[in-house]
Amino acid sequence: MSDVAPREIRLEDYRPPAFTTREARLRFELDPAATVVEAELLVERIGEGPLELYGEDLETLAFTVDGRALDPDALPVEGGVLRLRAVPDRARIVTRVRIFPAENHALSGLYESGGLLVTQCEAEGFRRITWYQDRPDVLARFSVRLEADRSRYPVLLANGNPGARGELPGGRHFAEWHDPFPKPGYLFALVAGDLARIEGTHTTRSGREVALHLYARPGEVERCRYALRALSTAMRWDEDVYGLECDLDLFQIVAVPAFNFGAMENKGLNIFNAAALLADPEIATDRDHLRVARVVAHEYFHNWTGNRVTLRDWFQLTLKEGLTVLRDQ
Ligand SMILES: [Zn+2]
Repeated sequence: MSDVAPREIRLEDYRPPAFTTREARLRFELDPAATVVEAELLVERIGEGPLELYGEDLETLAFTVDGRALDPDALPVEGGVLRLRAVPDRARIVTRVRIFPAENHALSGLYESGGLLVTQCEAEGFRRITWYQDRPDVLARFSVRLEADRSRYPVLLANGNPGARGELPGGRHFAEWHDPFPKPGYLFALVAGDLARIEGTHTTRSGREVALHLYARPGEVERCRYALRALSTAMRWDEDVYGLECDLDLFQIVAVPAFNFGAMENKGLNIFNAAALLADPEIATDRDHLRVARVVAHEYFHNWTGNRVTLRDWFQLTLKEGLTVLRDQ
């Protein structure tokens, strides 16, 4: 259970963070019953005050600051915020936590949905995955390594570009992902499971090729064809009307059977409620098709309005949503 009571947040109380996180290197030992998350954070002082990390429903196994171990059972946590005062101006924080995806019914953080492991981190879900500066004005470069049982989770996806992959003992395998663009924790995403994919490519106005990968459950993936066309159309429109090209080499969308939002614009790895992505040409109505086209476009347009140009604080949510809704209309 969470020990964090809802709290009132006022815009007038906004303070810039004392530190920022430059690099976040994460390793997940994925398992629905208990997933271990190792995080290596390179933090740097940019102001006055303690380093504040947020955590919720984490079982902390280890915590070090520049190699100095802290007692995981005696961390100075108050109201879900860990305040560390004696942190060097540049420091390496290494943590190891255990989280419980199958028991996570908050639909926030890492949870199990229809046999998949999937994340939802907007607005403050990343703190349910690891100790982190989980606020939108802290942007870090993420490298992620996912490890899981190969037969149960043959596909391992995260933000950015794919790196090394291979086999591990005990029928497990791994995949690494590197996101070249600094991002806030709320745009982090991972998906693991038995998924099929269809592919396309989009050639940008300047002649760069972007690979488009759409994933769904094996029996449903052909119903992503309309969404694939809609994605390419949206990319072209953003080039023509706003002069904005896709900045990624790979753009991925995954349909998840149970997802609390319609869709989420995680950088380079959009996660959709299947109802907002799949359209069967035999039975889908014009209205169904319009919905898919609109949600695909909306989440893609966030790639610039929201993701590259992101928020300072959550009072600015209306800015990214208002502008992106204007664009999808
Ligand atoms: Zn939106």
